[in-house]
Amino acid sequence: MIQKAEDILKKVFGFSEFRPLQRDVIANLLKRRDSLVVMPTGGGKSLCYQIPALLFQGLTVVVSPLISLMKDQVEQLGEFGVGAAVLNSTLKQAEYRHNVARVMNNEAKLLYLAPETLLMPRTLELLASIRVDCLTIDEAHCISEWGHDFRPEYRKLAEVRKRFPEAVCAALTATATPRVQEDIKNCLNFEASNTFIDSFDRKNLFLQIVPKSDPANQTIRFLQKFPDQSGIVYCLSRRQVDELAATLELNHFSVKPYHAGLSDKERRKNQELFIRDDVQIMVATVAFGMGINKPNIRFILHHDLPMNIESYYQQIGRAGRDGLPAHCLLLFSYGDIQKLKYFISQKGEREQRVANIHLNALVGFAEAAGCRRVPLLKYFGEEPAATICDTCDNCTGEKQAQEDITVPVQKFLSCVCRTGERFGAGHVIDVLRGSQGQKIFQFGHDKLSTYDIGKELSKKEWFALSRQCIQKGLLEQDMEYGGLQLTPKAWEVMRGNLPVEGRLREEEDGLAPRTKEPADYDHGLFAGLRILRKSLADEFDIPPYAVFPDKTLIEMATYLPQAEEDLLHLHGVGQVKLERYGRMFLDHIREYCEINDLEESPKIPVKRKTSTAAECKRSRHLEVADKFNRGKSAAFLAAEYQVKLTTIVNHLYKALVQGYPLDEEGTLPELPHLSNGQKAAVFEAFKRLGTESMSPIFEAMNQEISYDDLSALRLQYLLKEFPDLD
Ligand code: ADP
Ligand code: ZN
Repeated sequence: MIQKAEDILKKVFGFSEFRPLQRDVIANLLKRRDSLVVMPTGGGKSLCYQIPALLFQGLTVVVSPLISLMKDQVEQLGEFGVGAAVLNSTLKQAEYRHNVARVMNNEAKLLYLAPETLLMPRTLELLASIRVDCLTIDEAHCISEWGHDFRPEYRKLAEVRKRFPEAVCAALTATATPRVQEDIKNCLNFEASNTFIDSFDRKNLFLQIVPKSDPANQTIRFLQKFPDQSGIVYCLSRRQVDELAATLELNHFSVKPYHAGLSDKERRKNQELFIRDDVQIMVATVAFGMGINKPNIRFILHHDLPMNIESYYQQIGRAGRDGLPAHCLLLFSYGDIQKLKYFISQKGEREQRVANIHLNALVGFAEAAGCRRVPLLKYFGEEPAATICDTCDNCTGEKQAQEDITVPVQKFLSCVCRTGERFGAGHVIDVLRGSQGQKIFQFGHDKLSTYDIGKELSKKEWFALSRQCIQKGLLEQDMEYGGLQLTPKAWEVMRGNLPVEGRLREEEDGLAPRTKEPADYDHGLFAGLRILRKSLADEFDIPPYAVFPDKTLIEMATYLPQAEEDLLHLHGVGQVKLERYGRMFLDHIREYCEINDLEESPKIPVKRKTSTAAECKRSRHLEVADKFNRGKSAAFLAAEYQVKLTTIVNHLYKALVQGYPLDEEGTLPELPHLSNGQKAAVFEAFKRLGTESMSPIFEAMNQEISYDDLSALRLQYLLKEFPDLD
């Protein structure tokens, strides 16, 4: 069975191998064992149930909370030639009936449903009449009250499960603490042995944090590094979103705002523009991102501090789903902490306490001097495999200068000790700095030996120091009350056995994205392929990434495939996509190679019986010239070689300048859309400026005549030496 799954992976989806957990999950589901899958965003959860769905005889029901995501999945599956349907409340009657029919006659192997749709009697009735082999619960953490996104309808899925005792159950999520995992399994009657947890480490995301000094300028400088690429800029407030979007627009960025204050219609429109690559940058509040499946988001900029590590991780997780490098920059400022504290102070008492602890954890993360991934992964309960990486600023940048901070740390730790390990950093700092506050006198802390021994540092510096104490494992924070407690290591420091290095002052540092150099591919070809992809996507009314993801285009621009069999070896090219789009992409690549005199460098070398395309190509222009001289028109040759007319024109030009004579009587493109006056002006320009370089001619014509037309006219000019115009 797993062999069949592997075949589907290659033939249908065009991927060369499974990611490690995918194989295990699929094998498990095919054995009809329930599976809980916890994988980070972009980890490849979808294939875990989509491939079994193609192997099961009956239907796979997929419950998903977000209508936009369902639509996206069904569209993408359609592009792979996989039958899938969706049922939800937004469908029109006819569409609904059509989709039901596709399910009934097994045309759709997967049925995507919102939970409330599944719970409707008519849906349950429909499903009772057919064979259901798998019940998939996407975003399964919604089932748990302990998750961050509890949805009451999800609770009722437990009931639904009983109606399909034969169906195996797959529950998938990107965010689940152990507590939530237990909840999901209990709720769905799972067995313990079938949980699959992937690492949360997203190695392709470059993590960087810099002090926020001049945010508008910092933002602009950052965005300038990503021309023509998609990304999100997160701001704290709606007003901030509107202002920043306006500033960026003034600076000629392709940008739209997104926040809860806009009308539904406008939000939907802006999101669609972003997904379809019509707009590159989304400036948004946290309201944006749920239900965005776009794989080619290349950067996330946090213009303001997020509320906690969880939201930070969720937001940066939207970048680089395709596995290619993406850059995540956070602009960090103490002013933002104050703003968030103000927000928090508006909440209830218990909520305030939890929110403050979460915020402190985030600030600690931001100030950490070591690898950024270590505290992040630890936060999610994962033991990092290494303490150094090559995709975060602290690991790759110049190490920030560390100084000996043993003495102030000793002062701080003793003060924690003297005050009884019950207070948070704020109070300890007040004691150290000799505050006259009421709380000090109430506890008699003005009598302590550590009272008023720390005026040499500002409050801010003491806070930074206290957070470093936590990171270095000298202090632990009580998760409920926020009190600081000493660890055994702290006693070593206080006894003078262990020196401490760290930083007290924030320093400026570079803003330049340090994503790894993109692999060596032809950027001109890539740009052309993107345009082709966009026009196809618009024609079929789907997002560009559903045609091919960026990774496929990059591989095309790397290996320059010339034949269908080469194309099949590339990432993301399955049989159906090959049939649907292969020709058009191959034509484009071949033409590009011909014009630029490039040869294929196959991903997997193949022996061909006939001579290779590259061999044919070398003398293609002479072959074309020869046929032209034997009376074939340029237009005829374009059709014969299945290339654009302008490619033939370029072949002929190349032959001509290499000294190959061309027949003056041959039929060149006629250009009926140009007036005789225009043509005459172009010929004049050739006479005046020469024919070697086209751009002076293009400028002389006020950029009104395309390069393709100019090439054709140049050939006429050279061939007929100032042709007559009648
Ligand atoms: P998730 O649902 O976990 O966020 P997806 O299922 O959307 O992730 O997959 C993320 C990306 O990874 C998609 O673009 C998908 O096509 C790609 N992908 C998944 N599995 C593989 C694989 N085995 N090989 C190559 N690419 C894969
Ligand atoms: Zn690192």
